[in-house]
Amino acid sequence: MPDSMPQLTLHDSRSRKTVPFAPLDPGNVRVYYCGPTVYDLAHIGNLRAMVTADILVRLLRHLYPRVTYVRNITDVDDKINTRARANGETIDSLTARTIRDFHEDLDAVGILPPDIEPRATHHIAEMLTLIGQLIDSGHAYEAQGHVLFAVSRFPAYGALSGRSPEDLLAGARVEVAPYKRDPGDFVLWKPSAPDLPGWESPWGRGRPGWHIECSAMSHRYLGESFDIHGGGSDLLFPHHENELAQSQCCFPHGRFANHWVHNAMLLVNGEKMSKSLGNFLTVRDALSVSPAEALRLLLLHAQYRSVLNFTLAGLEDAKQTLNRFYRAVGDTPPDGTVPVPAPVLAALCDDLNTPRALAEMHALADRALAGDRDAALGLRAAGQLLGLLGQTEDAWFRAGTYVHPETIERLIVERQDARKSRDFARADAIRESLAKDGIVLEDGPSGTTWRRA
Ligand SMILES: [Zn+2]
Repeated sequence: MPDSMPQLTLHDSRSRKTVPFAPLDPGNVRVYYCGPTVYDLAHIGNLRAMVTADILVRLLRHLYPRVTYVRNITDVDDKINTRARANGETIDSLTARTIRDFHEDLDAVGILPPDIEPRATHHIAEMLTLIGQLIDSGHAYEAQGHVLFAVSRFPAYGALSGRSPEDLLAGARVEVAPYKRDPGDFVLWKPSAPDLPGWESPWGRGRPGWHIECSAMSHRYLGESFDIHGGGSDLLFPHHENELAQSQCCFPHGRFANHWVHNAMLLVNGEKMSKSLGNFLTVRDALSVSPAEALRLLLLHAQYRSVLNFTLAGLEDAKQTLNRFYRAVGDTPPDGTVPVPAPVLAALCDDLNTPRALAEMHALADRALAGDRDAALGLRAAGQLLGLLGQTEDAWFRAGTYVHPETIERLIVERQDARKSRDFARADAIRESLAKDGIVLEDGPSGTTWRRA
C-alpha cells in the first residue's frame, strides 16, 4: 500500500470496535461472504448485503494488489426441498434457475462477481471431513442418525454475537428434539428420506445442516485464518456463531475470520419487509420501477451499519442525484485513469462511509457544473470506484428503466406472435417501447436477437 493511501478502518463485530484493518497477507486479502440459499428471487434486503460486499471488495482492490473474494451458494436446504415440491419441479431445475436469476439481478446492479463461488453440494466431502474431526475431538456427537455440535464443549460459544446462554436459547428458537443433549446443540448432519437429496456418510445416508458448509468452503479456499467474513446482521446469530464454533474447534490454531463485517437491515416504508405487510420487494420489483443505477445509489445513502429505509421517494431522489452527476461529468470518458479524489477515498476508508463519499461527490459536481474539468474527471473516478457513472451522459439520459432479459425474451415472442397474426401496429409498439429502454432488437435469418444500446 503506497504511503499516500489512507488507512482503512472497519467496524469488527467480534470486538465491537472500529479498528484499523490489517490484512494477514497484504499481498492477498481474503474475504468470505455468505451467499444466497437458492429457492427464490433475491429481495432488496439481500441486495443490501451484496452491495455492501461489493463496495468493500472494490475498495480493497483499490488499496491492495490482490483480493480473493469467495461467496458461496447454498444449494442444499429444507427450504429448497419444500419449494421444489410445491412448484412440482426438480431441485436441480429450481436451483439452476434461481442461481441464474441471482446472477442476472446482481449484474444489473453493477455487482462484480466473486473470484470463487463454491456450491455446497460440490463440497460434501469437505464437510464430512470436518464433521468427523469434530466427533473425534469430542465437540460433536451422533444421535439417531443425526450429528450434533455440542455447544457446551466450546466455552467461547456466544462470544461473537455477544449473547449469554439464556439469550442463546431464546435467539435460536431451538427445536427441542429428543436426540439433543442440550437444546442449543445444532445439526451438522441429518438423515435424508429416499426422495430427498442425500449422500452416504459414516452416519448413514443424509444431508448437511446449513452452517457446516461455510466452515468447509472457507477453509478449502481461504485457509484456517482469513481476513474478513461478512453478511447481513441477521446472519450473526446463529449462522456465524455456529460457523465460528465449528471452525475454531477443527482448527484451534487458526482464527477463522480475523474481522467480521455485518450490515444493518433494510426497512421498506419504515417497516420490516414482510410478505404479510405487502411491502416485500424483490430486486426485480425495484428494477421494474427504476434504473438499476439509481437502485444501487439508493443503497449507498446510508452507511452500511445504519438501518436503511427504502422508499419510492428515495429511489426518485437517487435518480435525480444521478441526473445531476451525469450532467456534471458531461463528456469525460467513463474509463478514465484519473485518481479517486482524496476526500472520497478518505470517506470510504472511514468504515465505508458512503453518505459522506456521496456528499463529497456532490461537492465535486458543484465545481464541475461551474466549469472545473478536473472536478468532472474526479467525480467520474469516484463514481467508478463505487460502481456508478459507468455510462456516457447521453446513454444515461436516453436509457429508461432496466429491462430484464426474461422480460425481453417474453416481449420478443409476443412481437413474433403479433407479426404472425399481421398485427404490425402491436409489433412496432413492442419494438419502440424496448428501444425507449435502450434495448435494440435485431431480426435475422435465425430469429430475433437483442442487445443493449
Ligand atoms: Zn455462511
